[in-house]
Amino acid sequence: MAIKKDTATQTVSGMRRCIGSAKFGIAPHEALVDDFPVQASQKDGLGRMCRPHWTEYTRELRRASVARKAEVDAAPEPVVRPEAPRRSRRAKVAPEPEVVAG
Ligand SMILES: [Zn+2]
Repeated sequence: MAIKKDTATQTVSGMRRCIGSAKFGIAPHEALVDDFPVQASQKDGLGRMCRPHWTEYTRELRRASVARKAEVDAAPEPVVRPEAPRRSRRAKVAPEPEVVAG
């Protein structure tokens, strides 16, 4: 298997940054690309966390989601969206809807 070195996400050939999760106490670190799960939704086709951490993350996320289900009806799975460039002019301010207490 040829090792390809490109893109800014891969610091060293065959290595990739696991972003971890401060929320769940997962420290970011470098891991082998082979340790990352395939995620087609990502622009480079790989997850942003290594497999064990991703598993841990989703598990914790689910647990947290269940814990606060009464509060927020959150999706059970994390939805990773590509950052969409959002440019709106300041002039456009939507009128605030009237809030009727009750
Ligand atoms: Zn990791």
